[in-house]
Amino acid sequence: MEFLTASLIELITQTSTNLPPDVRAAMGLALETETPGTQSAQALGIIATNIDMAQQDESPICQDTGMPTFIVHTPVGVNQIRIKKAIREAVAEATRRGKLRPNSVDSLTGKNSGDNLGVETPVIHFEQWEEDEIEVKLVLKGGGCENKNIQYSLPCELEHLGKAGRTLEGVRKCILHSVWQAQGHGCAPGALGVCIGSDRAHGYLLAKEQLFRTLDDVNPNPVLAKLEAEIMQEANRIGVGSMGFGGKSSLIGCKITAANRLPASFFVSVAYDCWAFRRLGVRLDAVNGAITQWLYRDPSRVVPKMAKTEGFPLTGREVVLHSPLTEAQVRALRVGDVVLVSGEMFTGRDAVHAYLMDHEPPADLHGAVLYHCGPVMLQQNGEWKVKAAGPTTSSREEPYQATVIERYGVRAVIGKGGMGAKTSAALEKFGAVYLNAIGGAAQFYARTVEKVLDVNLLDFGIPEAMWHLKVNNFAAIVTMDAHGNSLHRDVEAETGEALAGMELG
Ligand code: SF4
Repeated sequence: MEFLTASLIELITQTSTNLPPDVRAAMGLALETETPGTQSAQALGIIATNIDMAQQDESPICQDTGMPTFIVHTPVGVNQIRIKKAIREAVAEATRRGKLRPNSVDSLTGKNSGDNLGVETPVIHFEQWEEDEIEVKLVLKGGGCENKNIQYSLPCELEHLGKAGRTLEGVRKCILHSVWQAQGHGCAPGALGVCIGSDRAHGYLLAKEQLFRTLDDVNPNPVLAKLEAEIMQEANRIGVGSMGFGGKSSLIGCKITAANRLPASFFVSVAYDCWAFRRLGVRLDAVNGAITQWLYRDPSRVVPKMAKTEGFPLTGREVVLHSPLTEAQVRALRVGDVVLVSGEMFTGRDAVHAYLMDHEPPADLHGAVLYHCGPVMLQQNGEWKVKAAGPTTSSREEPYQATVIERYGVRAVIGKGGMGAKTSAALEKFGAVYLNAIGGAAQFYARTVEKVLDVNLLDFGIPEAMWHLKVNNFAAIVTMDAHGNSLHRDVEAETGEALAGMELG
């Protein structure tokens, strides 16, 4: 098995950096469908540029490289212990090379292992089969979309949709509700893996396994094929749009399976994946571990560019901001304004926000821009380099954000998916603004970082540390302003009405 570890490193690298053709095609369709000039269309333009950048530089498409989940099929007699060891070696090496972010955190101590290895990480499922080769499939699904997975127990009452019974129409309501509840938090447009039935634990696994189907396949079960096609039509009429900005492209795929259940239970389990739908696979020679075939992609074919234009198309109406910011500057901003931020910026997410509740910040945050981001960083020749740096889901910081704004004088918070009523009130009262960056656009934003000035709280691990960055022309959209307006609140209400108005059984 002399080639096994190298083959697995290549699988991880390609999965993290190069979206498969079926996902590219679905995203291409989303780009064509979205109304030009809208915020959703702008977001899709940045996403397309980001996809190209990641593939060209072999860098992570999104900074959140997720929970590496491997599905391995082996011929009878192949040593699975040896394969598991090679997968762990490959994961650690890919992390060292900056293709994966260190994402494995001890759930009791909060300590990041630094190499993506830990108790039950990576996730590996083995199956035997009667083929001669080994097959390894990999999906990298980040935390933002993983947090939007949802499981329904029928019958139930759904917001805007009413009663969902133990029928196919009840199932349909659950699936549409899952798209609505994700809004922009899971980096829409998303893709769904769904399991109807089974038990709670296995239902989620079967739902996730649906993500290994190509987005353009047709379900062999005609009932499910019809439901998948109808969900695609209906979900894209709800109006969530890219990043939850409102628009026509909310879903790029819906794959459904059904499994037997107990008479007393009727679960519908939904695995919500984001547009950064990173999934590939390889066939390996069972003797030496060399790659004999790629799944989902043909490496001999040139990868076409996604973006129609270079970078972020400027209109001249963008508001240029240089940090630190003044109260007057942020109070002049309104929802819908596009801003280009230059100057200094601090990252801070879950651990930093919790820390700031009981400790003074390690740097002066008056007038500061606070970026909800857990970057991929590498130390090269004694200097830190940003390898990927898109926004993380902001709603996790909702319990802390108002206090941080009030206590430390932060003037702008950048993240994705928006924040709640408490933060909105703080923005209004203390004069601050929420800027929505484009989720998953990790390469696009990494290129705006001119220098890593400092790092604090590195004990929290690379993603959770407080990085002090100097950026140039960091593009984002004002989605919550200092006047009580929130695009997120509006889109949630409008899409809720659209959901309620759908003619479902
Ligand atoms: S694209 Fe968004 S949801 Fe997907 S992994 Fe990246 S940050 Fe998370």
